[in-house]
Amino acid sequence: MTATLLDGTATARAIKDELRAEIQSLAARGRRPGLGVLLVGDDPASAVYVRSKTRSCEELGMHHETVHLPASATTGQVVSQVEDYNRRAEIHGILVQLPLPPQVDSERVLRLVDPGKDVDGFHPWNVGLLVQKRPRFVACTPAGIMELLARNGIAVAGRRAVVVGRSDIVGKPMALLLLHADATVSVCHSKTRDLAAVTREADILVAAIGRAGLVQREHVKPGAVVVDVGQNRVEDPEQARQLLEPPRLADFERKGYAMVGDVHFPSVKDVASAITPVPGGVGPLTIALLMKNTVKAAAQEA
Ligand code: NDP
Repeated sequence: MTATLLDGTATARAIKDELRAEIQSLAARGRRPGLGVLLVGDDPASAVYVRSKTRSCEELGMHHETVHLPASATTGQVVSQVEDYNRRAEIHGILVQLPLPPQVDSERVLRLVDPGKDVDGFHPWNVGLLVQKRPRFVACTPAGIMELLARNGIAVAGRRAVVVGRSDIVGKPMALLLLHADATVSVCHSKTRDLAAVTREADILVAAIGRAGLVQREHVKPGAVVVDVGQNRVEDPEQARQLLEPPRLADFERKGYAMVGDVHFPSVKDVASAITPVPGGVGPLTIALLMKNTVKAAAQEA
């Protein structure tokens, strides 16, 4: 069996196309959705993510601003930038690109984002609303995955779902969304015993771990839907040979690195019924949902 590819790029495009109409209707009422981005330090991956997000704003005709603080920034400096975005009417959504440098109190910064502008859904207020099944702003990656499942006709209710990873930004909100969609949900983590025995029960398996190719064929029940959240940079040629198929391996040899997921794609694609690729799976959905949340934030006061 070869799994159907769940094309995140196409689903993200469909979501953005729907947003265009909403953005036009907001424009007719004199409102242009605006995203305020805060980038701290020189992490190259963070810079790439911020560029993709601001490019999407441009594509959709949304306003965006990026403030870039040095890696030495203090909590106070970061807080005062967040407070500036909180105050300004033309900024409807605030994105604090994570991770922040270690000297910055990330928890305090995220708590200070106005919950009405918290388009990443990380504020305790929005997390609480999600827990109570009254979601307002939901973390973009898990919200994007739910859209992917729904738009590809993948039923969730009554099915066994297993989420590997329990982070605040992916694993936990993912588990809650699947639970609220009436799946029977298990959450695994680094202390889970016999991971494969749990993941093999999944009709829907979500891997949000940050370990290249950890989910292998033996972790997957035949016919399962596999969603790969992982974005891992591989530079070791031996590891690349184990993880990549020929066309991508050739690309790796040219560039000297490749982005791979948490799922061992070459073996899992033969046992799953559907699978998200990396790249082109979950990544574009995360950005599309950030745009959707920002438009929603702009619309809520219009
Ligand atoms: P975290 O590091 O915050 O969480 C990783 C989770 O995986 C933890 O709960 C950890 O367990 C668990 N874990 C680690 N090792 C194992 C193991 N051997 N077996 C089982 N569980 C394990 O990562 P994030 O949730 O932030 O991100 C996960 C991945 O998703 C990363 O690759 C990240 O780059 C990617 N990502 C992709 C996005 C996208 O848009 N595509 C968006 C956000 C993230 P424990 O809690 O016990 O430590």
